[in-house]
Amino acid sequence: MTPLIEVRGLSKHYPSRDGKGLVKAVNDVSLTLSKGETLGIVGESGCGKSTLARMLLRLIEPAGGEILFEGENLLGLDKARMRRRRRDIQIVFQDPYASLDPRMQVGDIIAEPLDIHGVGSKAERRAKVAGLLDLVGLDPSAGKRYPHEFSGGQRQRIGIARAVALEPKLVVLDEPVSALDVSIQSQILNLLADLKLRLGLSYIFISHDLSVVQNVSDRVAVMYLGRIVEEGPAGDVLGKPLHPYTQALISAVPAIDAEERRQRIILAGDPPNPEDVPQGCAFHPRCIHAFEPCSSQIPKLCGAGHRAACHLVNAP
Ligand code: SF4
Repeated sequence: MTPLIEVRGLSKHYPSRDGKGLVKAVNDVSLTLSKGETLGIVGESGCGKSTLARMLLRLIEPAGGEILFEGENLLGLDKARMRRRRRDIQIVFQDPYASLDPRMQVGDIIAEPLDIHGVGSKAERRAKVAGLLDLVGLDPSAGKRYPHEFSGGQRQRIGIARAVALEPKLVVLDEPVSALDVSIQSQILNLLADLKLRLGLSYIFISHDLSVVQNVSDRVAVMYLGRIVEEGPAGDVLGKPLHPYTQALISAVPAIDAEERRQRIILAGDPPNPEDVPQGCAFHPRCIHAFEPCSSQIPKLCGAGHRAACHLVNAP
């Protein structure tokens, strides 16, 4: 079966701040997502996951690679065809304060994608907006109010209503709950799970928070300095992590159950700096298992189903 989206060798490079080199924000990333799946992409700040999210919608133009959506290469589409394709792929941003225009009424914000794509008559669009507000748990009267009149969680509900207005097939969720209080996070995660079932959505869920990704994902990809270092079914990646970086991330997630308490792996060395990616395995200066080839050879993502990019895992 054709995957809903298949990304092959996607890269994005920026000039470094001193103008002398290149920052490889996303470097040769390949991944697939089947219809109805949620793929969680996790990694620390600066690992390239938000750049990757924006490239999937061509909000940022990739430097190379392919994005096949239902088999069609999005990077080969002209502006008009890409605009039509955007109906199928929508995004929810992290910051529900910054992502809504403060001068627009909420009803107009949600109707905007319908207006842009010329969906229905004015009356039909009004009815659709009322239905969308109800779908995300807001009173239809909210349409006449402005974003500043709502809490953070309510604003994210508005952002989600706008994202599903065009009945997309894929929603890219870029840190959708990171700006919210923990008590509100679970309400938004429940809403997303409910909408996924009711609307037949597929998600790419980007987060720095492994415990959030764990709750929502069918499959998980772990990014480190622009590359995917581990990928596979969520239960395998999070239950039996192969890559030392994933093992360290998981060891840092607090476990409530005393039996589950793990020994925390303290990452040595500097935090990742995309302007200064180490040679070989980019993780080697912080890896407690680094050995001879790690500082000179880039490990390939190997394995069947559950894959890792690590010389230790892939040693013959
Ligand atoms: Fe550690 Fe080497 Fe594996 Fe990189 S390739 S994660 S440095 S053991």
